[in-house]
Amino acid sequence: MKIFFSASEVAPFAKTGGLADVVGALPKYLAHLGHDVRVVMPLYRGISRAALERHPQPLGVPVGWGEKWGAVWEGRLPKSEVPIYFLENDSLYDREGIYGAKESAFGDNLERYAFLSRGTLQLSKLLGFVPDVFHVHDWMTAAVSIYLNTWEKETPWGKAASVLTIHNLAHQGWFPKDELPTLQLDWSHYNFLELEAYDKINVLKGGIYHSTCLTTVSPSYALEIQTPAFGFALDGVVRARADSLFGILNGIDETIWDPSSDPNLPANYNAEDLSGKAVCKAELQREAGLPVNPNIPLIGMVSRFDKQKGYDVLAEAIPRILGELDVQLVLLGTGEYWAETFFGTLSHHHPERIQAWVGFNPALAHRIEAGSDFFLMPSHFEPCGLNQMYSQRYGTLPIVHAVGGLEDTVENFDEETGEGTGFKVYDLNADSLFDVIGWAVWAFYQRPGQILAMRRRAMQKHFSWDQPAREYEKVYQKAVRRRTGLK
Ligand code: ADP
Repeated sequence: MKIFFSASEVAPFAKTGGLADVVGALPKYLAHLGHDVRVVMPLYRGISRAALERHPQPLGVPVGWGEKWGAVWEGRLPKSEVPIYFLENDSLYDREGIYGAKESAFGDNLERYAFLSRGTLQLSKLLGFVPDVFHVHDWMTAAVSIYLNTWEKETPWGKAASVLTIHNLAHQGWFPKDELPTLQLDWSHYNFLELEAYDKINVLKGGIYHSTCLTTVSPSYALEIQTPAFGFALDGVVRARADSLFGILNGIDETIWDPSSDPNLPANYNAEDLSGKAVCKAELQREAGLPVNPNIPLIGMVSRFDKQKGYDVLAEAIPRILGELDVQLVLLGTGEYWAETFFGTLSHHHPERIQAWVGFNPALAHRIEAGSDFFLMPSHFEPCGLNQMYSQRYGTLPIVHAVGGLEDTVENFDEETGEGTGFKVYDLNADSLFDVIGWAVWAFYQRPGQILAMRRRAMQKHFSWDQPAREYEKVYQKAVRRRTGLK
């Protein structure tokens, strides 16, 4: 099959979250399966043109009241032959930040991603590439699916199927309705089935309506987003497409996240010999300025300081955790100001118990994954989540809220049988979070044999991209059949 990926971020070129990891990895695995896969994204500031080649022809993209022009740069996804095209338009993309500066989004994001979406189609024409499937991601490229059914309806491109992956339903692309001309779509599409929601433009909603098939990044999240609790007001729209929605877990890069070869660690280890993990723990305690003691359970957490991640619940539970449990905590994150200040101050007052690092530090993230006994993810919702998969590879047992990908990738501890790879809380609040952490701490002290067996079991689990790539392949086949009327 010919598959064209269009995305607003692709690792390692630009990344704010899991979306970039998916689009950086999945195309390579599909190429291994024999497909002709290509990728397009914006040329943001900071992406070096040095290893790229500029196409001789400029690219005209109809947006707003006329046409905007850009250039096309071509490179390859690292360690692969997969072509990646970068759309250059400095007035739209040459700025600090991907979606916005600090905590506010850029005012012209509709235009920026209309340019990318319509530009994806213009580029495929420039290349003479007629894909079987356009695979688009989140609201930023969801309009590709709309254009296939409108502007491209009568062209060869209009026969292509579209697959929209929802990485996080919280981000929908809301804009004032008077910006509709930016998309160059007729007002007839501004209706409650397509682009209109609560008197605003909702780009994701239009994409959900127009895409041939939909996917999201875990089977549980695929069910959750059909409920009001997780649907961010689009649950009804998602339910209407339930027969076209598939949940496929993200894979992880098992070559980068491998404790037996990870160069960021003070010692390497594997499931047979965990002695290196004890070294990692002692080094992490030292680095964090905590008492170096193998007998105190150490809980790690790495993520954006964001409401989604459950920092508010942790903040509420933390006086009891520090007051009643014999544990140490290391946190690494950046984001909301209140959380940076709250946890920073806390570690200042309790230097023997907690270290909170504010910053983005991938090497330290690896050391926390390896050196901790437990890894905390009390997310309110979690479409897939990566850290719980990393932590299991590192023999660090995740303590999670049983939602989305956390529910799908962690098996709860069973005291009777010793089965499981982590600890789950089902109804998240400060008391239940305290209880589940207390349960893990209890098991650490009282059931060391079971904890060791769980670590080994967790480390032997596989989360590679091979399996998800095959599942995406099936969805593409289904989408093509539906698009061509074969069902
Ligand atoms: P999300 O995509 O919602 O941010 P994920 O768990 O899917 O959450 O992925 C987050 C990724 O970013 C993980 O690889 C995690 O280790 C990394 N990460 C998040 N915050 C930090 C940080 N402060 N320092 C280093 N890595 C981080």
